[in-house]
Amino acid sequence: MKFSRLTEYFEELDATTKRLEMFDILSRLFRESSSKDIDKIIYLCQGQLLPAFKGIEIGMSEKLLIKALSEAASVPTKKVEETFKKTGDLGETAEGLLKEGGEGLAIEKAYNELMDIAYTAGTGSVEKKISLLSNLLKGTSSKEGKYIARFVLGRLRLGIGDPTVLEALALSKGDRGLRPGLERAYNLCSDLGLIAKTFLAKGMEGVRKFHVQVGYPIRMALCERLPSSEDIISKIGKAAIEAKYDGLRIQIHKDKHNIEMFSRNLERTTHMFPEIKEAVTSHLQAKKAILEGEALAYNEATGELFPFQITIQRKRKHGIEELAKEYPLKFFAFELLYADDEDYTERPYIERRKKLESIIRKNPVIEPAEMFVTDNPQNIYEYFEKAVERGLEGVVAKRLDAPYSAGARSFNWIKLKRSYRGELADTIDVCIVGYFRGKGARARFGVGALLGAVYDEKTDAFKTVSKVGSGFTEDELAELKKILDKVALTHRHPRVDSAMEPDIWLEPKYVITVTADEITRSPSHTAGRDKEGVGYALRFPRAVGFLRGDKKPEDANTVKEIIEIFDHQRKVKVS
Ligand code: AMP
Repeated sequence: MKFSRLTEYFEELDATTKRLEMFDILSRLFRESSSKDIDKIIYLCQGQLLPAFKGIEIGMSEKLLIKALSEAASVPTKKVEETFKKTGDLGETAEGLLKEGGEGLAIEKAYNELMDIAYTAGTGSVEKKISLLSNLLKGTSSKEGKYIARFVLGRLRLGIGDPTVLEALALSKGDRGLRPGLERAYNLCSDLGLIAKTFLAKGMEGVRKFHVQVGYPIRMALCERLPSSEDIISKIGKAAIEAKYDGLRIQIHKDKHNIEMFSRNLERTTHMFPEIKEAVTSHLQAKKAILEGEALAYNEATGELFPFQITIQRKRKHGIEELAKEYPLKFFAFELLYADDEDYTERPYIERRKKLESIIRKNPVIEPAEMFVTDNPQNIYEYFEKAVERGLEGVVAKRLDAPYSAGARSFNWIKLKRSYRGELADTIDVCIVGYFRGKGARARFGVGALLGAVYDEKTDAFKTVSKVGSGFTEDELAELKKILDKVALTHRHPRVDSAMEPDIWLEPKYVITVTADEITRSPSHTAGRDKEGVGYALRFPRAVGFLRGDKKPEDANTVKEIIEIFDHQRKVKVS
């Protein structure tokens, strides 16, 4: 396929605000794609060159793009800057300055050239990137240039989430029933390009053969919640009770000396945890393994765990070694998913745990998460109380005979957290889909309140649940404006369902954590709306912390969970 053909699809996707239309456009695109191109097409549609877990970045700023554009269009940088000032979008600027196209590039060529730019590093790389990009732009039409410019800046913003791609892939063969099979493969390898390529080349037969592989992150299992230890035992019977650590989740892949780590949303985080990497290399007794656990800063002298705010400091690019000295981490391993050629994801919890314990040689960094097995709610309650006192978040109960539910939230894992009077037992993660400028003193920062939405798994859409105006400092509000304006849209995003009209619509990209007093029924929000048009809303919401770098929009809480919490909240108590 020609890249120009793909940009025609980009135009269509850009113009739609309807989700069903989006499925239709994408499934037409996939039907027209060859198995040679489909992986690249999917990555490009999602604004990336490879799946996020590969950690590839183009590494070009507005400034560099402006230089490349000026070279490609043979105009002074000043002219590019002036046009940019008028349009506010370097995509449109490129479109205006570049010539109408000739033959057009093959997708493969455009993709490979973008890849070359991403892989250019080291001394002189800035100049090299500019010249590679300007060469690419010289060979493209103005329309292609528009999307290449947006792409290199990470501003394609077509808003195509992974579930949308899976649905459209199934629909491209006219059979929605294929989706669960595609989803299973996706849960095991997290690489939509690879799945689509296999699907086109070898059909569902090939997709069914997908299995766990070291180096491909497995989509992480998530917890359901219940309000009490009795509820847990009556739901899953005798269970493994583990401490719930409040740190950073890591999935570790070991292939001899090659270690990779992935965050909860499957980004590569290997560089952040040098001491864990070292410990896995020396003390994990398996040549190849995939394990999961929580990394936490802890005080070597007292053995106390530090709060999340300390651990999260690791999320940075530089100064990691110093931080590792000041706040060393411990890794509490709670899952084994693969060991020496054996896939453990289908094995029962208790077998996985046994194997996990057997391959960790005693060392100061990695240890198995605290765990005991019980069918007595009172034991859980007592352990829970002590755990909370020690600064842990609570407990996670795990069903003894359950497999690892890759990519799913299920009752195989159930979390139990502390509830406070007048406050929801748990925080809620919402995706920001718009903002209000605010009135009076607040208007000073340009952001007065955020429009928060929860994720509706059924429709793969975001439904509003709250207007969050408090909990941010003045500095944070100013910072928020800068960040959010980069994902501002001129119209409501097709995956957003809202009855409110914020001043600025946003691409669903950022997640924040919110506490609230309770959940109420409300006609103002679309989450869980019934026939009478009454949905659910958070009462007295306030933000805790800043944007959640570790959560994707689809990791926000779901409509289903909001309704469950609403149903539970009257009986919320811990034992
Ligand atoms: P939540 O984010 O509140 O839904 O809780 C789920 C998160 O708790 C997981 O994603 C892990 O990062 C974390 N966690 C801490 N300890 C455990 C444990 N023992 N088992 C599973 N998850 C845990």
